Order: sequence, then structure tokens, then C-alpha cells
Amino acid sequence: MKIDILSLSLSELTEKIIEIGEPKFRAKQIFDWLCKGAWDEEMKNIPKALRLKLNEYFFYPLPTIERKLVSKIDGTQKYLFKLYDGELIESVFMRYQHGNTLCISSQVGCRMGCKFCASTLLGRTRDLYPSEMLGQIIAAEKDTGERISNVVMMGIGEPLDNYDNTIKFLKLVSSDDGLNIGLRHISVSTCGLVDKIERLSSENLPVTLSISLHAYDNSVRDEIMPVNKKYPIEILLGACQKYFEKTSRRISFEYTLIAGKNDTVEGACRLAAIIKKYIKSPCHVNLIPLNEVKETKLETSKNVTNFKNKLLSLGINATVRRRLGADINASCGQLRKGAKEVNQ
Ligand code: SAH
Repeated sequence: MKIDILSLSLSELTEKIIEIGEPKFRAKQIFDWLCKGAWDEEMKNIPKALRLKLNEYFFYPLPTIERKLVSKIDGTQKYLFKLYDGELIESVFMRYQHGNTLCISSQVGCRMGCKFCASTLLGRTRDLYPSEMLGQIIAAEKDTGERISNVVMMGIGEPLDNYDNTIKFLKLVSSDDGLNIGLRHISVSTCGLVDKIERLSSENLPVTLSISLHAYDNSVRDEIMPVNKKYPIEILLGACQKYFEKTSRRISFEYTLIAGKNDTVEGACRLAAIIKKYIKSPCHVNLIPLNEVKETKLETSKNVTNFKNKLLSLGINATVRRRLGADINASCGQLRKGAKEVNQ
């Protein structure tokens, strides 16, 4: 079986290059090309004989652009990427003052079943390899010609449900031989897999942990996020506090406002109360007006400003997420689903 070359660290690649009888210095040359999205003839200083040998032992699973939508409003670019086996995933490229951010996928589909989310409607097909997470960044840098300095794992999939590959990806992407994106510039977003949050806190990887909370009590959270039945809100918030104590990294909460479900001013009071009860560290609530997904029949809230102001008045740091790419449906899961329906 051929080896996935982009899932290897430089030292792992060096070992393999020596194993196939090539000089060590070739490994670094090849590795540099891989990080630029180059393979085969594009690897200018690699002789043809070695390129043939590489193709014999390895494969390079760089995602290819199946479709690209560019927002006329703010230049946000949404990619529908095709993987080596034909599966489709999405990434979103956003320009901010502090640098370019790529929102990447971690799985083909998702099995978490959140009621408002388009990515989970078709379930999970498979996990992404570390190379395929890295490959989204490399392919987007190659296409835009711009460096990506921030990564958010908020695309399709639940990163902590693909734990080992996510950890390997975080090590690869932050390695100074490779893309060298600092872990402090990477957010891992989770619906709340508490056992994995505990494991992550011991990995010594200073990423920002982002928790998709979306509710102020168990009855609301049970209704919209099945994961809450396994890990109720108090257990989740307790794990967040422990994560902070161990890593000193500020926690960020995502809260999608859905009309009539979780968006009343009284809800904001209850959210502030439960956060204060369990979280004794700096935290931030990121409010996201629901992106409507036609299959779910859930509607976006009209109470976003009131909700935010209530949180602020109660001393909770809250902002409303700026909506980038509003004209290209930039929230994840919708493009892939649309493409699958057309193909059926
Ligand atoms: N599985 C991870 C990461 C992917 S989802 C997680 O749950 O955090 C990224 C973020 O988008 C999550 O906060 C998710 O709850 C939110 N989200 C999903 N569908 C949405 C929608 N239709 N409108 C607004 N936010 C949504």
C-alpha cells in the first residue's frame, strides 16, 4: 500500500527517504515542495528518477478545487474540495485585519446530529487524514497566493470525534519545518465531547478551545444537541474550567441564536448565571445569528442585540460574529449537501 506522504512529519519523511535508498537532503527538498502544494513535475529540483520512485511508494492527497464561490461583498472564498476518493468537503477563506483565516473541515460529514446544522444531515462518511486537513490550507494558499495565518476547525465534522488525526494535524501544521502556523492561532471547535476535552488538556498544545454551547440549560441543549444527553451542560462547563486551569488558555463559547429556542432576554440571564457558576476564568461568548438551513425549519433570531446587551450588562464578554460571505452561503455543510443532491 502506498504511503500518504503529506501525513508525515519531516523526520518521518527523512526515515522513509533513507529507506528507499535516497540521500537524506532530498527529504527536506521534497517536504518544502509538499508544503507549497507541489508534486511530481512541479518539484523542480527533484530528478525524474526520484519523482518516479516517489510515485511508486507514496501518494500525495492534496484536495482539488471542485468549486469555488467568491463573495462580492467582502472577498470571502468558499471552496468545495474533492478528496482523492471523490468525497467532498468545504473550507472557507476569510480576510481579517489580523491576517487570513481558513475554516477547515475535519470529517466527511458529521455524526453529532445537532438539529440546526447542515453538515450532519447526511451523517458521517469517514474521518479526514491529517494530510487532508493540512491539504485544505496548502490548497487554499496555492490558489490565493496568500499566506494563511489563522485556522479555525469549524468546518464540516467534529474534530474531537477524529481525535488522533486532529492531534497529528495540529503538530504538523505548527511545526517550524512546515507551515509553521502557531497553535495560539488555531481554534479547535467542539460540540462538547468531554472525554476528549480532558485528553486535549494534557497534550500540551496551546490551541484555543471553542465550545459550541448554544443553550443555557439541559432541556434546551438536549433538544438541539444530542451530545448533551451523554455530557450534560454542567459536566461540559466543569471540563472547560479544568481545561483552563491546566492550559491557561481562555475559553470561547459559540452560541447560535435560534428564534423561540434559546434567544430570550431571560435566556441570556440564565446563560450568564450558568457561565459564572462554572467558569472562573476569562471567557468570551461569540453570538452567531442562525444561518437558516431549509431542512431544519429553524429560524434565525431577531433578538440578537438584546441578547448581547443583556450578557454585557451582566459582565459577560460577548460579541456578535461578523457575517462574512453572506452572499455565498459561507456557513459550512450547505455546499457539499447541494453538490451531492445534484449528483444523485
Ligand atoms: N463540530 C464542531 C465544529 C463544526 S461546527 C462544533 O460543533 O463546534 C462550527 C460551528 O458552527 C459550531 O459552533 C456550530 O454549532 C455552528 N453551526 C452549525 N450550523 C450552524 C448554522 N446553521 N447556523 C449557525 N451556526 C451553525
